[in-house]
Parts: sequence; C-alpha cells; structure tokens
Amino acid sequence: MVEVIGFGMAGACVALQLQRGGHEVRVVDDGEPGSSQVAAGLVNPVGGRNFEPSVEVEEAWAVARSFYDELGAGLFRQVPILRLWRGEKDREKFERKRGRVERWIEKVDEEGVTWKEGGWLDCPAFLAAAKGAFLERGGEVSGQARGGVQVWCSGAAGLLRGDFTGVTHRSAKGEILTVRVPGWDEKRILTGGGWVIPIGDDCYRVGATYEWENLSAGCTAEGRTKVENLLRIFTKKDYEVIEHVSGIRPIIHRSQPVIHHEKGKGWMVNGLGSKGVIYAPRLGRELLQRLDGELGFS
Ligand SMILES: Cc1cc2nc3c(=O)[nH]c(=O)nc-3n(C[C@H](O)[C@H](O)[C@H](O)COP(=O)(O)OP(=O)(O)OC[C@H]3O[C@@H](n4cnc5c(N)ncnc54)[C@H](O)[C@@H]3O)c2cc1C
Repeated sequence: MVEVIGFGMAGACVALQLQRGGHEVRVVDDGEPGSSQVAAGLVNPVGGRNFEPSVEVEEAWAVARSFYDELGAGLFRQVPILRLWRGEKDREKFERKRGRVERWIEKVDEEGVTWKEGGWLDCPAFLAAAKGAFLERGGEVSGQARGGVQVWCSGAAGLLRGDFTGVTHRSAKGEILTVRVPGWDEKRILTGGGWVIPIGDDCYRVGATYEWENLSAGCTAEGRTKVENLLRIFTKKDYEVIEHVSGIRPIIHRSQPVIHHEKGKGWMVNGLGSKGVIYAPRLGRELLQRLDGELGFS
C-alpha cells in the first residue's frame, strides 16, 4: 500500500499515476485549502519576462496535456496567449531570443507575440475529477495516515512545517482577483507585467502578487491594490471585484519540482512553484518509475 499525503495538484497526479501503474493507493488529506484550490491554472510555455521557455516544457506539457484530456474533456481550455510588448527594448530582446521560442509562436505583430498551445486548467474541477476517478478505481481516502510507503505531497504547508529536513525552500505567497469587466470581450489570455485570463460571462482572473516575507497574512488590501494595478495594464474599462483569494506557492531552491527521499520518512513530491499545472503529471509519472525501480514492483 502506498499512502499519498495531500491531495493538491501533486497528490492528485501522484495518486492517479501510481494507481494506473498497479499500486494500491490510500490518500490522506487534511481538507485544508492548498494552493491548487486557488491557482488560476495558467499554462504559459514561455512565462516570465525574458522570453525563456520553461525548463523541459515541451516534454512536460505533452505528458500533462494528455493526462488532463484523458481525465475530462474541457478541464483544460486552450486559449491564445498574447504577450504584450513592454517597449522597444523588450521587443529587441524578443528578437534576440526568438530562435529559442519559435516552436511556441503563433504570430508576431505590433501588439506583441502570441504563443500557441497554452491556456488554463480549471484546477478545482480537475481536483474533483481526479478524486472521482481515483475512487472509481477503488482508491481509498482516509482522514488519518495509517502507514505503508508514504509519499508526502503536502505543498507549502509541508515545506513551512519542515516535513523533510534536507529541503530548503523560498515559498512565495500570491494573491489574485476575479473581476467582472462588462463589455470588454477580450477572448485571449493577456500577459506582460501580470496576466488576465478570460473565464466567461464578462469575468477574468487577474494576477498575481509575489510575497516572500509575510506568508501568513492571507488576502490583504495591499495585495488587492497591486492586482488592480496589474489589471490597469490591460484595460481602462470599469470593473467590479467579485473574488479575492490567496495561497502559497511551494518553491524549493532553484525553483524546480523535486522528488526527494529520506530514509525512515519516505518520499516527498513538492516544489511545483508557480507552474504546477505544467509539471505535476510528469512528476507523478517519474515517481511511479522510481518506486517501481526501488521497490521492485515492475
Ligand atoms: C495565487 C496563486 C496563483 C497560482 N496560479 C497558478 C497558475 O496559474 N498556474 C500554475 O500552474 N500554478 C499556479 N499556482 C501554483 C500552484 O498552485 C502550485 O504549483 C500547485 O498547486 C502546488 O500543488 P501541491 O499539490 O504541491 O500543493 P497544494 O495544492 O498546497 O496541496 C497540498 C495539500 O496537502 C494537504 N496537506 C498538507 N499537509 C498535510 C498533512 N500533514 N496531512 C494531510 N494533508 C496535508 C494540504 O492541505 C493541501 O490540500 C498558483 C499559486 C498561487 C498561490
């Protein structure tokens, strides 16, 4: 029996991949809302300000995309992503880097560069579908750990607690808003100093703040103002804030997702940072390969 502790993006992907690989799996979750519950679900293959593709994004996203599509049609919505130019220097930087990101370019024009194959995952719907599929295949969900091979997918909560001693982290709090902007009718995801994701019915998700010092403050007036200022990069139209959420991104040294093992403690799958949607399914698959190698199940 493998016991998966935590059922956010990491735990859901790990539990399903192990189950599909023939393991008996028990999920233990404390019911606290993790960052997967608030994540906007953005998948931007060329995120960040420097036109750098995310590490191994092509392979990781291929694994993730088929994983999500198999679980439920419509969980992932493919939407063009317009990265707006932020001045002439920015555009020159893009031209220098263009060769590295050519594969993701749909078009380049006066507004900016449009990336293809990105979009957004409905994270709460994904977690619900993953739980349903896990239970349907005979998976067990328990309020309490009972032993077995333990895989800790406890996100930022586990990192802050120090569940594993050999892991340093620099987790970052984030706040995002959902706003209603009547009559804007923007269908693309917009990025460049922040991001806006159209989610339908004149509503958009807007983000995000990064805060490394005060991780426990939850939603703040300061965070809300910062995000409202980000929205102003993209539209001057009137808007109404309809939701304000915050969470903590689990970020480990070098900002790479990690599979870590400590004798007597078990496995840890963590460090999804701000790109859990791209990397979680491949991490689950890698853990399956490592468990089968170590435990001789294959
Ligand atoms: C504001 C914000 C916006 C974001 N937007 C995006 C985005 O657009 N795209 C993207 O890819 N990523 C985004 N992220 C990042 C994304 O949320 C994370 O990469 C991912 O959700 C981390 O998943 P996780 O499973 O590791 O952690 P979590 O989602 O935090 O899940 C861990 C779970 O384990 C449970 N747990 C902890 N300890 C225990 C215990 N001892 N026993 C039982 N259960 C336990 C917790 O309650 C929690 O439910 C965003 C994050 C934030 C904060």
